Amino acid sequence: MAEFKVNYRMAVILKNQTSDELYSRLSAIGLTPRQARQVQAAALKTGFIPRQLPDIPMRLMEKLAREVMLPHLNLTGKVTSPADGFTKYVFSGAGAGLFEAVRIPLMAGEKYVVCVSSQVGCGQGCIFCRTGAMGYKRDLLTWEIVDQVVKIAADSDKRITGVVFMGMGEPFMNYERVLQAARIMCEPCGLAVSAKAITISTAGIIPGILRLADSGFPFRLIVSLTAADPAVRLKLMPVEKKYPLHELVQAIRAYCEKTKNRVTIAWTMLRGVNVHEKDARDLAALLAGLPVNINLIDVNDPVGRYLPPTDQERAAFRDYLRMHTGMPVKRRYSGGKDIHAACGMLAESL
Ligand code: SF4
Repeated sequence: MAEFKVNYRMAVILKNQTSDELYSRLSAIGLTPRQARQVQAAALKTGFIPRQLPDIPMRLMEKLAREVMLPHLNLTGKVTSPADGFTKYVFSGAGAGLFEAVRIPLMAGEKYVVCVSSQVGCGQGCIFCRTGAMGYKRDLLTWEIVDQVVKIAADSDKRITGVVFMGMGEPFMNYERVLQAARIMCEPCGLAVSAKAITISTAGIIPGILRLADSGFPFRLIVSLTAADPAVRLKLMPVEKKYPLHELVQAIRAYCEKTKNRVTIAWTMLRGVNVHEKDARDLAALLAGLPVNINLIDVNDPVGRYLPPTDQERAAFRDYLRMHTGMPVKRRYSGGKDIHAACGMLAESL
């Protein structure tokens, strides 16, 4: 397709809508639903629209070229960990600031999951997270979120079978665009990621949890608790002030009841801070009766203020929860530490 002048106000921006929405926007020029899916597939699978597409007459292609624009992220850096094969991509987009996405190899590189960013920086200020230390810069646009996966898929030898919203930013502070991006990612004609393999992680933004429960979309939910004592949590995660633990647990319960899905509870382990038996006891009591899985994640603090737990602390914490809750508890591997791509390490740099 010929280059065209970018007009953000008027143009239909590809990667911003589903193929049904694309059809609604462009049916006036004669595009059919099937042709809209072809255009969508080209935009998401190959990243560009060719001059010709099967079943779309040349005249319609010319009209289309005047109506749409296909924006792209710029890849400003890429590095792969020699230790575990995690790859970090650094992008710039339509506005200020750099943001990062991580390709995670599964099954010895047989398939990939992509961890995407939803904001540049983050306003939640979790004290163990480098993105939090950056502060909030801006929300990413829908196409900027989708294009992280498009670009990484084009750079990959194996399929992208899952997406996690655990990169830079708090997804529920950019709710509309995150949900729209997730819907686009699971379109069968495009990236075709299963909706059940798309996971949204939150520090505990209650309105977002409740909206997701009501949305009807089967995306998975991870809630980062990290402390079950409000006073401890407040020190680690300022979000506790606005959305306190007891209300957060009610929201998780409502989500589980409405969706019939299990929620994953993330617990970032900090040596000597939240890994005592009392912490495990508080957590077990807080989550009693809820259908949850618990993921234990070692803190990754490149400046060394917080250390990961000792093997003894980690094992004792895990064993207490297994013995007293019956909930599935597992340690989640957070890779790419050597390239600053692990959980909590993304901060506009290579
Ligand atoms: S852990 Fe997540 S919510 Fe907390 S500061 Fe980092 S990016 Fe934001």
